[in-house]
Amino acid sequence: MDKILHQPLGGNEMPRFGGIATMMRLPHIQKTEEKRELDVGFVGVPLDIGTSLRSGTRFGPREIRAQSVMIRPYNMATGAAPFDSLNIADIGDVPINTFNMAEAIRIIEEAYDEILDLGILPLTLGGDHTITLPILRAIKKKHGKVGLVHIDAHADVNDHMFGEKIAHGTTFRRAVEEDLLDCDRVVQIGLRAQGYTAEDFNWSRKQGFRVVQAEECWHKSLTPLMEEVRAKVGGGPVYLSFDIDGIDPAWAPGTGTPEIGGLTTIQAMEIIRGCQGLELIGGDLVEVSPPYDTTGNTSLLGANLLYEMLCVLPGVQRR
Ligand code: MN
Ligand code: MN
Repeated sequence: MDKILHQPLGGNEMPRFGGIATMMRLPHIQKTEEKRELDVGFVGVPLDIGTSLRSGTRFGPREIRAQSVMIRPYNMATGAAPFDSLNIADIGDVPINTFNMAEAIRIIEEAYDEILDLGILPLTLGGDHTITLPILRAIKKKHGKVGLVHIDAHADVNDHMFGEKIAHGTTFRRAVEEDLLDCDRVVQIGLRAQGYTAEDFNWSRKQGFRVVQAEECWHKSLTPLMEEVRAKVGGGPVYLSFDIDGIDPAWAPGTGTPEIGGLTTIQAMEIIRGCQGLELIGGDLVEVSPPYDTTGNTSLLGANLLYEMLCVLPGVQRR
């Protein structure tokens, strides 16, 4: 039997402003037996009860889908043709409990256990950054400890937030404590702004992470940096976690905790394209908050960065 290869609905089959908005106008696959055929699944996790300032990421998955309708199949810069060799679909949202964080985290982990058991590589539409913890917990069971490329204005290594151990700013401290990460294969890019102590980013460095503060990225191409990143995180499975607030609020204002002096959209593309060749086993794009995104540009950027992630997955052919 020929391999099934779902294709995004073309602009001549249904106007791009019409139809039901799935990620990239792909089929929405719900049946377990059809999910089994998939290589990659776009998954939404509409959580925002882990945010510390402005909320609204619960609307992220829906709006990223709405802003993804322009994306065509072929990457004209890199030649990547993801739909030529991988079976890809939108597998819908995880039905989180918006009143109970512990319960939400449990539901997310269980959902990803199932996704991974079905052999689907998840690309996640967030949701606040809390969601990466249960995803990494599920991934540990499938792949063992993973390397990590983490783009963010923040290190997200707080011990607690307002006394809570699970929140969007504690994700990677918990991930280290729970032994989910191969700490010598972790890079954090774009960190900036103010801390509570001058040592705030050094907790990461003490774990073995390579920390690339935003200032190290200013005024230059990040393509050379990515050579170093590949050498650091390679040699095993790697997860890619992209917090949209890593990008400057000039381009990505629709987020809960914006920080000035951030990365450009071009640098974001250089980072993701620079992940080509890594053994990527999943990725997420988190912290898009549509209520603060008056132009839709932040969701548009999020949708396109998820497409760029798709283009660097193992098994993607290039033309
Ligand atoms: Mn974050
Ligand atoms: Mn952040």
